[in-house]
Amino acid sequence: MKPLAYDLDYENWKEWMKEQNQPEFRARQVMDWLYIKRVVSFQEMTNLPKVLRQTLEETFHLKSLRIIARQVSQDGTVKFLFGLYDQHAIETVLMRHDYGISVCVTTQVGCRMGCTFCASTLVGLKRNLSSGEIVAQVLMAQKYLDQSDERVKSVVVMGSGEPFENYGPTMRFVRMINHPRGLNIGQRHITVSTSGVVPNIYRFADEDWQVRLAISLHAPNQELRSKLMPVSRKYPLADLMDACRYYLEKTGRRITFEYALIGGKNDQKENAHELGKLLQDMNCLVNLIPVNYVPERNYKRTLRSQIFDFKRILDSYHVNSTIRREHGHDIDAACGQLRAKYGQ
Ligand code: SF4
Repeated sequence: MKPLAYDLDYENWKEWMKEQNQPEFRARQVMDWLYIKRVVSFQEMTNLPKVLRQTLEETFHLKSLRIIARQVSQDGTVKFLFGLYDQHAIETVLMRHDYGISVCVTTQVGCRMGCTFCASTLVGLKRNLSSGEIVAQVLMAQKYLDQSDERVKSVVVMGSGEPFENYGPTMRFVRMINHPRGLNIGQRHITVSTSGVVPNIYRFADEDWQVRLAISLHAPNQELRSKLMPVSRKYPLADLMDACRYYLEKTGRRITFEYALIGGKNDQKENAHELGKLLQDMNCLVNLIPVNYVPERNYKRTLRSQIFDFKRILDSYHVNSTIRREHGHDIDAACGQLRAKYGQ
């Protein structure tokens, strides 16, 4: 199996060109073809010598993802199901907001975290993705947008998988899409979300960059959280909050807490009061997400009026919150649903 060209960063290309006795500017040319012109074969890299194109073709492969399915919602959300080289499949979602287009990427095939409201974990973890396979998802979304002359503005690492269980490749991916010779997506426009793998929250806080952190919280106390999210048994809520406070102190940046409202489970008024008390001294934003219906779990959606009540209670604790606009409600929007539908 040849290595994937997108697994190499600019420094790697410079080294590779040196090994081939090629001048350094060839690395810039390759980056340009991959990320600016977004070609799909080495033969299209016409300013490279023919013999070099041949060597590239013999050494690397470029076609990391093939489209198995694509669903387009009435609101412009696009959900891709991509096939990988080993017959596994992953989902990537493109969403349109008033502040620009974002892409939600996947970092693992499946997931072993076992969150009870999530379809991605139903078949467990199959394997980690390489940094290049994550980069290729953004590139494929950008190629789709090229047809309408639009651009990916932001990236959220919030698709299937736990990014902090695939830490190295995910961080490398972030650096690659942020690189000026890569996709040049601003650090503040990249958000990495974790279900609460505490040791890597400390590690992430110590990274020298402006990339944002989101925490999938979904419950205001340890008992309920450990029922919804098994990760909380290994990394209890109190430890998670300590790690968040360290992050806030170290970086001075706000944390986003994701809170999926599940009818009758975590959406009651007392849950909102508890959440308000938990977060009232933190520089944070709570993202309230009406949970998508997952047939396998039989979870109910929270009434719209209850969501507003929940938000009002958080307001009373001066905890900032937003109610997430739903994307792709008419397609298989919940993460893992499209993959499950195709039996992947
Ligand atoms: S919510 Fe995220 S961490 Fe939890 S099972 Fe789903 S993909 Fe894994």
